[in-house]
Amino acid sequence: MKGAALRKQAIQNMHNRNIIRNSFEKPAANVAEMFGVNVFNRQAMRTLLPKGAFRTLMKTLEEGEPLDPSLADIVANAMKDWAIGRGASHYTHWFQPMTGFTAEKHDSFLVSSGDDGAILEFSGKTLIQGEPDASSFPSGGIRSTFEARGYTGWDPTSPAFLMESTMGKTLCIPTVFCAYSGHALDKKTPLLRSIDAINKQAIRLLRALGNKQAKRVTCTVGAEQEYFLIDESFYLLRPDLINAGRALFGAKPPKGQEMEDHYWGSIKERVLAFMMDAEAELYKLGVPVKTRHNEVAPAQFEVAPIFEGANIAIDHNMLLMEVFRKTAQKHGLRCLFHEKPFSGVNGSGKHNNWSLADDLGNNLLEPGNTPHENTQFICVLTAILRALDKYGGLLRASIASAGNDHRLGANEAPPAILSVYLGDTLNSVIEGLISGKGGSGAKGARTIEIGVTTLPSLPRDASDRNRTSPFAFTGNKFEFRAVGSSQSLAFPNTVLNTIVADSLHYIAAKIEEGVKGGRPLNDVVQEVVQKTLTEHKRIIFNGDNYSEEWHKEAHKRGLPNLHNTMEALPRLVDKETKELFKSHAVLNEEELMSRYNVQLEAYCKTINIEALLTSNIAATMILPAALAYQTQLAGSIIATKSVLNGADMTVQQGLLQDIMEKASKLKVAVDTLDKLNKKDEKLHSDLFDHAKFYETKIIPAMNDVRSIADELEMLVDDSLWPLPKFREMLYIY
Ligand code: ADP
Ligand code: MG
Repeated sequence: MKGAALRKQAIQNMHNRNIIRNSFEKPAANVAEMFGVNVFNRQAMRTLLPKGAFRTLMKTLEEGEPLDPSLADIVANAMKDWAIGRGASHYTHWFQPMTGFTAEKHDSFLVSSGDDGAILEFSGKTLIQGEPDASSFPSGGIRSTFEARGYTGWDPTSPAFLMESTMGKTLCIPTVFCAYSGHALDKKTPLLRSIDAINKQAIRLLRALGNKQAKRVTCTVGAEQEYFLIDESFYLLRPDLINAGRALFGAKPPKGQEMEDHYWGSIKERVLAFMMDAEAELYKLGVPVKTRHNEVAPAQFEVAPIFEGANIAIDHNMLLMEVFRKTAQKHGLRCLFHEKPFSGVNGSGKHNNWSLADDLGNNLLEPGNTPHENTQFICVLTAILRALDKYGGLLRASIASAGNDHRLGANEAPPAILSVYLGDTLNSVIEGLISGKGGSGAKGARTIEIGVTTLPSLPRDASDRNRTSPFAFTGNKFEFRAVGSSQSLAFPNTVLNTIVADSLHYIAAKIEEGVKGGRPLNDVVQEVVQKTLTEHKRIIFNGDNYSEEWHKEAHKRGLPNLHNTMEALPRLVDKETKELFKSHAVLNEEELMSRYNVQLEAYCKTINIEALLTSNIAATMILPAALAYQTQLAGSIIATKSVLNGADMTVQQGLLQDIMEKASKLKVAVDTLDKLNKKDEKLHSDLFDHAKFYETKIIPAMNDVRSIADELEMLVDDSLWPLPKFREMLYIY
């Protein structure tokens, strides 16, 4: 079978599948009954652990006290009984290496099978520490310098869970992954350190402001996740989707998203079945998924959970992606998390909603009802503005990837320039603070007196939203919108927490200093806030981030515009960043360098794979289709001429000429790309230069191949075209 015959068969497959799609098993229980049944959560622990052990463990979790080793055996045993009782045969330390994915290696509970048969065991030692032979994970150079083996260490702050599969269950224990030297080899360790850092500095600020009640401050995260779904029959005919996660070829479909008929449209039955099935799995895993809807692009969707503490929220986002991938396949669909699977329609992002909360349940970004609460709110807000202004480039670098390069700044996602949106009301509050006494500030701004004035209530409704801002205040939290859909949230949040911790520290120290001199607290705070805001107000932008004017204005303000990965990544390792991470004990210099190297390597590898695939598909699938059509046309012209002597074939010959020229151009473009791909094998220089070669040479050569191929798609006989077209993939499912 060839060309469109394959595509037709794919559509037929789908039709057949539609007939049987009602055969999915419906969840047996309601949400409340199934929520968390696969999680070794507090409730399970309270029931299964001796009272004393439970209490000690809770102390560790709630107050961040070190874990008592004698506890480990007790917890491990209870965990094992719980897991086996629910059908688990294996356990795994579940961790997040720097690949950006999760990793697992399963071990059976079986320790020996003596005369009496199998003995199942799980000790405290195995719970706390594992020693995977993990030499193949990226280390960005850390392991060669330090220690070959890594170890995994239990993270008791994220509950263990059972991953279900068709044939059984596996107990997954969230862990960190470090080298023996103590260097972090994963994404979770620095995240946990950054959570500690922000706790430390936030508490310091609260104390400086006279808040004696709060004992801990944690960050909260709620991740809105966008994705595409396409039918598996199409997916399997697209080597680019299979191997690169995105379509490297494909002309823009005649119908794109211009009708605005997909966004929040009624959800197709088949998609809804998938969503409900995936959600049921997630409920069992204790992932509080809450909203679902159709997104802007055809075949694009979004899911959002209720926010949780950052560490768990991020684990849960990793789990969500995994469950979505698996469940989609069960439904004959494929779930694409790539930032830009289909050019010509919107790409996907992951909105990182972020805030700070104390242990009494107060959201620190919730403007309060009393002047005192407002003082705290204003100080935290000021710290965040300073952090974004000082380290916006670094935050930008934390989400730099080959995939996200397709999306940022493409008039569908925020630009690569980081700025903060506050909304009109809060903006006038800030202006009032900056203008100080006398109220000489901007129009409408009134003087805000710290510790005296109550703030106007801030609108939280959709009318006060700015969807173009990369970092927007949304009433009681910030929404960082530039994160790519496939990315782990761990590193962007590590950076966000650390830069905010740094500014909380700065403000707390200034206040402490001023008060020490004997001045009234409110006066000191007023002055620190006013000065800091004045210094950093350039980061605030409430207008249209997509506009040309903003790019000019941002340039004038001196805000960095780091267009792509290669411009952004050096920010990760500049002097300021190194000092920042070191002073808050989040990443030491080697660890930071390793992340920089890993991000660079990932960039090179991604583009290398795409380049090889581009050449491969163009040479072996598209060019043959073009040549077949060329032959067909030539044959038709000869045949016609032989029958109709002297017929005017100018138009047909013109078409043949066009196809012939485009096919030749395609071949030349592929040859050029191949030459560059070969040259790449010989490049052994500096990693950065290597990546630069991909950016400046390989990507343009790939784009050349694609643009000719996409032109051919519009000309070649449809029945000869081997790749499912966007107009099919995005609409038939
Ligand atoms: P939106 O603000 O986008 O209209 P929601 O209010 O539903 O929609 O919030 C979107 C996401 O932000 C959800 O995942 C939600 O749980 C999360 N969120 C809400 N409050 C907080 C918070 N204090 N910290 C972190 N995330 C939050
Ligand atoms: Mg949102």
